[in-house]
Amino acid sequence: MLRQLLVIFGLFLALELAAEAQQPGALPNPLPSSAGTAYVIRAGRLIDPESGTALANQMIAIKDGGILEIGSNVSIPQGAETIDLSLYSVLPGLVDAHNHLALTYKKVPENDIYYYTYIQESTALRAIQAASNGMQMLSSGFTVVRDLGNNGLYADTALRQAIEQGWIPGPTLINSGIIIGGSGGQFYPTPEMYKEHNIIYPEYLDADTPDEIIKAVRQNVLFGAKVIKICVDCKPYAYSVEDMKLFIREAANAGGLKVAGHVQTQEGARRAIEAGIWSIEHDTALTDELHKLMAKKGIWRVGTETPFTEYRGTQERFDHTVQGMKSAWANGVKMAFSTDADYYVPGMNRGQVVINFLKSWKASGIPDKEILKIMTVNGYKVCDIYDTRGPVKPGFPADMIAVKGNPLEDVDALRSVVFVMKDGLIFKRDGVMTPERFLHGGPVNGWRIH
Ligand SMILES: [Zn+2]
Repeated sequence: MLRQLLVIFGLFLALELAAEAQQPGALPNPLPSSAGTAYVIRAGRLIDPESGTALANQMIAIKDGGILEIGSNVSIPQGAETIDLSLYSVLPGLVDAHNHLALTYKKVPENDIYYYTYIQESTALRAIQAASNGMQMLSSGFTVVRDLGNNGLYADTALRQAIEQGWIPGPTLINSGIIIGGSGGQFYPTPEMYKEHNIIYPEYLDADTPDEIIKAVRQNVLFGAKVIKICVDCKPYAYSVEDMKLFIREAANAGGLKVAGHVQTQEGARRAIEAGIWSIEHDTALTDELHKLMAKKGIWRVGTETPFTEYRGTQERFDHTVQGMKSAWANGVKMAFSTDADYYVPGMNRGQVVINFLKSWKASGIPDKEILKIMTVNGYKVCDIYDTRGPVKPGFPADMIAVKGNPLEDVDALRSVVFVMKDGLIFKRDGVMTPERFLHGGPVNGWRIH
């Protein structure tokens, strides 16, 4: 017995050392399949959304999943395949800062009531939906998605791990795990549901007291959350400023995570701003005055601004949305492109539903090149990955897309993504998905990846 224990201990020690040996100086975490690949991209136009400028005829050298060099003439990595995008604009990947990849409610059978989706679909099924939705997002040029809950029992973490381990292609995921709220979360359970605590409770974590708040944050971190999502004011017993400060402190303590708050009342927004929350989700309650406070404190506005279409919304709600965007922009609030996409529209995939939110942004009158910056640079920042992933520059993972036309002048150019590269692998080429290289026979980085 003792000998067995010693053997197991020795094994753990070896794994520990191996894991440590891999870390320093490694490329920006290439996928298992990225190793050994090399490409040179010839970009007709290389766009820098940060400065709102473009350079003609640039070359990008890519090796082992990372960007080596960019310029009008670069040294070609050995064995590199040339990708001719000289007729296109090449730019960094897009970001949806609020999506729900493992939730798709629909007309039949649940009449678009997501309460029923939870009851009828297992976490396992929803994880597979999430994998599909992730690929649909990637195909539309979204290389990063912030996934803010309603994913059953951590289908979002499963998706993130599957992507990071190289099982399937998908966007870089910043996932929240289970949404934390006061009793009931966003639901109105019956006493039977509440007491049994099993029917709706894969979807929400109750946290009413300081002890429960700490416990809930730690549970999510334990099960792979990369951001903490809370319901600030879904119930009359909204979180106090002190409650939210505790969330923020505990999330920071648990690996420097940020706190995103679903906010639907002005009082909730006021408290969240005072507490110094990282981001306010949804534009419902935000006023000109609240925007001024948000700008002063540097709080992100993740407005989830739904366009008015034949399948969604009303003119009245849309007018409110556009008014809010104008106010936020005029007040210098940090804005992110976000959708709250969690539904099915016949004839459209998840990526198409999401990119159609451009309608709202165009209606806001924000200049096209600023919208592009919001959809890229601001996205990396609100996801808190700006220093490690997103921008197209040497030393970074090779994530980029190509479109016809120039999105700096007409942001609708983003509707026709012809090329997508993620981690230095080609996911889409000539407008067709080509995911073969992503499908890896066995992950080499599975150990202790959360
Ligand atoms: Zn949402």
